[in-house]
Amino acid sequence: MIFQDPMSSLNPLKTIGKQVAEALEVHTRLSAAEARAKAIRMLELVRIPEAAKRYDSYPHEFSGGMRQRVMIAMALICEPSLVIADEPTTALDVTIQDQILKLLRALKREMESAIVFISHDLSVIASMCERVIVMYGGMIMEEASIEELFTSPSHPYTLGLLRSIPVIDQDKDAMLEPIPGSPPDMLSPPAGCPFAARCTHARAVCAIEAPPLHAVSDTHRSRCWLWAEDAPVSGNVFKERGAAHA
Ligand code: SF4
Repeated sequence: MIFQDPMSSLNPLKTIGKQVAEALEVHTRLSAAEARAKAIRMLELVRIPEAAKRYDSYPHEFSGGMRQRVMIAMALICEPSLVIADEPTTALDVTIQDQILKLLRALKREMESAIVFISHDLSVIASMCERVIVMYGGMIMEEASIEELFTSPSHPYTLGLLRSIPVIDQDKDAMLEPIPGSPPDMLSPPAGCPFAARCTHARAVCAIEAPPLHAVSDTHRSRCWLWAEDAPVSGNVFKERGAAHA
């Protein structure tokens, strides 16, 4: 797993080489010398300059971007088939973010690992992912290929997210369209659709019962009563069907 904040995720009292090699010592039978050699190769792979020399450096001697490279080396050292990257570029400025994303894309190809990439940034998602799952209130709201999600979003929450992105060539006086309201209190989650309090398409059923995931196509699913043939109330819910595409 690659954690969000490289500034606080590394142990300040251990050298970065020791922290990268630690997973090998725990999960493999490599000797200390072999683990050190492999950790240095991994640091080279994540483009740490003079990796053999930097092996004995401490985290405070590295910049934020370099620390995130070390975190990536730690995550990949045991050659996992799946890496979970939890907002790995949130704490970095945009130039370094771009470098880290390029590195992750290259490593994914080189190491043939799959990546579950968690982010709030839809532009990063668009550049990194093949399939997207949009989550809200602990539930999957929509699941689609990257093309389907951006060209034909089928859930009111996804639509709200897409509409709230500033467009570079938009009129400077144009207002952004935020999603009104706040996320639900997950200590006492709502009974029905978690998005109901903020949804302009919400109907009575939405506050009572959580909608099922509906197959919009073979590769596209949406959790919304607007799509359900068997919504537990008749009439107005069905009239709204298709409104999400409006
Ligand atoms: S189920 Fe109802 S409240 Fe939830 S997104 Fe669909 S229309 Fe809106």
